[in-house]
Amino acid sequence: MSQVLRTSLRRLDRDNLHYSSCVQFFFVHAACLLALWTGVSAVAVFACVALYFVRMFAITAGFHRLFAHRTYRTGRVFQFIMAFVGTASYQKGPLWWASHHRRHHLHADTERDLHSPLTHTVWQSHVGWFLCRDSLATDLSLVSNLTKYRELRLLDRYYPVPPLVLAVAMFLLGAGLGRYAPGLGTSGAQMLVWGFFVSTVLLYHGTFTVNSLAHIFGRRRYETEDNSRNNLFVALITLGEGWHNNHHHYPSSERQGFYWWEIDVAHYTLRLLSLLGVVWDIRTPPERVYRQRILDETGGDEAAPLSQPRSA
Ligand SMILES: [Zn+2]
Ligand SMILES: [Zn+2]
Repeated sequence: MSQVLRTSLRRLDRDNLHYSSCVQFFFVHAACLLALWTGVSAVAVFACVALYFVRMFAITAGFHRLFAHRTYRTGRVFQFIMAFVGTASYQKGPLWWASHHRRHHLHADTERDLHSPLTHTVWQSHVGWFLCRDSLATDLSLVSNLTKYRELRLLDRYYPVPPLVLAVAMFLLGAGLGRYAPGLGTSGAQMLVWGFFVSTVLLYHGTFTVNSLAHIFGRRRYETEDNSRNNLFVALITLGEGWHNNHHHYPSSERQGFYWWEIDVAHYTLRLLSLLGVVWDIRTPPERVYRQRILDETGGDEAAPLSQPRSA
């Protein structure tokens, strides 16, 4: 932990910030303040929560477990739906997302890992990397299996379109409800603020905790070469991504909670979808992965093999 705190005290690399990304990121946050003017209603909060979890599922089960790791297979239509809904999270497109994530696994917690809280700062691991020039480019050589899909390339190139479509849809839905169901007490502006802006901000920070908190706090079951942790809180807000030490140990598994008590909602949902024939060939951890576990799981640095980060 002390290593994390020391590196967190390093100064922010302001020269590396990409100001256009910063302005967009700031605008989405600042727009939430419009809630003071629009007020709130039950239907607006419902839209906020529902769109958080629906888009989190697309990020978790789509961008991460399907595009970045190919832990199951599906048809091209469902693949597109996951890509479109995930891109509506305003975290750039599926190729960008998957290539950066594969890079993370290649260089986890080294200097070449853009969002390591060990070799950079906690701020950098949470949002700084997302706003810096180093993260702008997409290394297509890391996602050559995805570039053959024209629709994924288009979504990646025009990534602001799905969030814009969602924002307009929220406004029109709210305006329609305000007119035809005035008892709900909502409006176009209110649904836009809660269903898009507030939900998207929560989604940003929920997703980013996997890079920050799940590499700092939690228990280690496996002696991975990084500082990944199993963290229940992160697992709950990300639909299962918090079992991050499990995931770094065996990234080819669709399920990240390796035991029944490790809550992994994305896994349960994908299992349900497999029963319906929407997804198939779900990959699971082999028996040897269960035998390799460290019996004495701890949350302290003494269990971490990473007293010194790997050199890049
Ligand atoms: Zn990680
Ligand atoms: Zn991963």
